[in-house]
Amino acid sequence: MQKINYGRLLDDKLAELKKSGEKPSLLLHACCAPCSSHTLLYLYDYFNITVYFCNPNIAPESEYIYRKNELKRLVSELGLDVKIIDEDYDSEPFYALAKGLEHLPEKSERCQKCIEYRLRKTGDMAKNLGSDYFTTTLTISPHKDCAFINECGGRLAEELGVAYLFSDFKKHEGYKHSIELSKKYNLYRQDYCGCIYSRKARENG
Ligand code: SF4
Repeated sequence: MQKINYGRLLDDKLAELKKSGEKPSLLLHACCAPCSSHTLLYLYDYFNITVYFCNPNIAPESEYIYRKNELKRLVSELGLDVKIIDEDYDSEPFYALAKGLEHLPEKSERCQKCIEYRLRKTGDMAKNLGSDYFTTTLTISPHKDCAFINECGGRLAEELGVAYLFSDFKKHEGYKHSIELSKKYNLYRQDYCGCIYSRKARENG
């Protein structure tokens, strides 16, 4: 099967919006400040963006709060007119979905469930808010399965009746740009994905 170029799909959508002069609303799921930095700047001229911080996978709670506060600081320092919706810490749904999959590595079934959970929450919230689109910053990470994220978003869009914005934010040196922006704004760059299992894997080398 031919690989879909999700970066091209995003650029085609942005070109279409530019031509039409429309600026639809977008609910952007954000995993952390570094991944949001490039993504926000890339999309800002084309959408009215609301950022959604919903990441029950992150552990411990102090890490969750730190990543959330860094995201708020970034948005404030970038001076963007962007609203942020954040969830209080509740890791229970994550441990329920990860049950029996704790030993698996990154990009495994555990990660697929973790990503799907967060995308579904974002799609549900987008529907409640009446947003035109929803998407996630997660495709900027070279450690994530971009095709899976987009396929999952597309499936949920059909199910929920809210359009999903396909993306590959790594394109156009997006990941490199996020590292530069992290340096510029002195952002905290975590060295593990988020859950306790990814942290243990990092500690064990
Ligand atoms: S490694 Fe990352 S994507 Fe996978 S389950 Fe843990 S937090 Fe979720």
